[in-house]
Amino acid sequence: MTDDHSKIRELEHRNFRNDDFWKEIPGWSAVTRGEFADHKWQMKHSIRKVEQVRKILGSRLAEKDFNDILEGQKITPMNIRITPYIFALIDWENPLDDPLRKQFLPMASQFLPDHPMYLADSLSEDDDSPVPMLTHRYPDKVLFLPTTICPVYCSYCTRSRIIGGSTETIEKETYGANQKKWDDVFEYLLQHPMIEDVVISGGDAFMLTPAQIRYIGENLLKIPHIRRIRLATKGIAIFPQKILTDDAWFDAVKHIHKFGKAFGKQVVIHTHFSCSREITKWSQMAMDKIFQAGIIVRNQAVLQNGVNNHVDEMVLLTRQVGFLNIQPYYVYMHDMVPGCEHFRTTLREGVELEKAVRGTTAGFNTPTFVCDLPGGGGKRHVASYEYYDEENGISVWKAPHVKPGELFTYFDPIGKLSPEAQQRWGDEKIRKAMIDEAIKKAR
Ligand code: SF4
Repeated sequence: MTDDHSKIRELEHRNFRNDDFWKEIPGWSAVTRGEFADHKWQMKHSIRKVEQVRKILGSRLAEKDFNDILEGQKITPMNIRITPYIFALIDWENPLDDPLRKQFLPMASQFLPDHPMYLADSLSEDDDSPVPMLTHRYPDKVLFLPTTICPVYCSYCTRSRIIGGSTETIEKETYGANQKKWDDVFEYLLQHPMIEDVVISGGDAFMLTPAQIRYIGENLLKIPHIRRIRLATKGIAIFPQKILTDDAWFDAVKHIHKFGKAFGKQVVIHTHFSCSREITKWSQMAMDKIFQAGIIVRNQAVLQNGVNNHVDEMVLLTRQVGFLNIQPYYVYMHDMVPGCEHFRTTLREGVELEKAVRGTTAGFNTPTFVCDLPGGGGKRHVASYEYYDEENGISVWKAPHVKPGELFTYFDPIGKLSPEAQQRWGDEKIRKAMIDEAIKKAR
C-alpha cells in the first residue's frame, strides 16, 4: 500500500461521523445535540407511521418516493419503527439506493416474489421449541425469546412471523414481553443439565425494562449448569443514545454482568451492525462505555444485497467494528423468509466475500460467514456444503451433530440465476427434479 489514496482508505475505518446530521431533516433542524442524545427523546420521536415520514421530511421527500413507501406497507410483513438516529442517517437525496432506508423503510418497487421454497419459520424454530419462547436445537445452547418488540423493525427480520405486531399482510399472536411464561422457561432449563448457554433475543433486549433484565439475568445465572448468557440487541447499532443516557437500563446490564462474574459465568452482548453507514461517533462513545464496564460485545451481520454484499463495504464494516472493540462474529446468509427475496444473495457471493475479508485484519476480528440451514440444521460455514448446483442455485448440506442423517437445502435467489435457470424454476416438475438430483449427488 504505497499511494496516498490507499493510505487514506486504510484508515477510513477510524473516521466516525460526528456532525449534527439530524439538523438536515427539516422537522428536526432545531433539535439540539443534548435533546438528540437523550434516549427518551429518541423513543418519543421514533417513526411509527408512513405519514410521519412525510411530515418530518416535508418537501425533501418526492411524492413518488412517498407513494413507494406507502405501497411498501401493503407488502412487508414488518411494521415501521425507526429511531431518529437511523432515520437522520439515511441519504434523503437518494433514498432508493440508501442501505439504511432499504433495511428499515421498505419501498414497494424493491420487492420481488418470494422464492417457491421460502417458509415463514424458515429455521424451524417453532418445531424445536419444547416450551413457548424457547428453541432448543443444539445440545448445550438454547434461544430464549422473552419479548417480541424492538427499538427498530428491520425489513429483513428472520422472525417477521412474530416480531413487531400485526401488519396488512400478517396477523401476529403476541406483542411485547409475556412475563407470565418466563418461569416455564427457567423450569425447563433447570430440568436439562446439558444446557450451558442461553441467548436472550426476541425481539430485542433493549426493550426489556431494567427490572426484567435483572429478573431474567438472575434467574438464569442461578441455574447451576448455565455458564453463559448473551443479550442480543441491535440497540448499539441503531440507538446508541440508550447506552449513553438510560442509566437505569445500563446499570441493570452491568448488574447481571457482575452477578455472573461472581459465579464465574459470562454475560456478554451480541449486537447487529450490518453496514458501515450505521457507525458514527455515537457508536464509538456507546462502545467505549460498554468496554470500560468490561462487557464483551460481538457482532452478527446479515448479508444483504445492495447493503453490504460488496468487498470494500464488508472489509470496512469488519475493520470498523473491530476498531470499536466489537468482535465480528458471524455474517449470515439471508434466511429464506417472506418479503426478503430482494435482500438475498447467492451462496457463491457469501463464499467469495468470506475469502476476500479473511486476511484483511487479525483472525479473531474476522467474521465467520455462515448459512443457518432452512429446516433447523443450524449454522454451517458457507463453504461446508456437500453439493452446490450453482447453475440452478441449489446447495445441499449436512448437520451431523444437530440432526444426524438429515440433508438440508438452501436456495439462491431466483432473480440472480440465468434466464434459462429462472425458466426451469417456473416449472414445478422440473424444479422438483432439480432438487432431487442435487440431493442425490450430495448423498
Ligand atoms: S432487531 Fe432483530 S428481532 Fe428486531 S426486527 Fe431487527 S432483526 Fe428482527
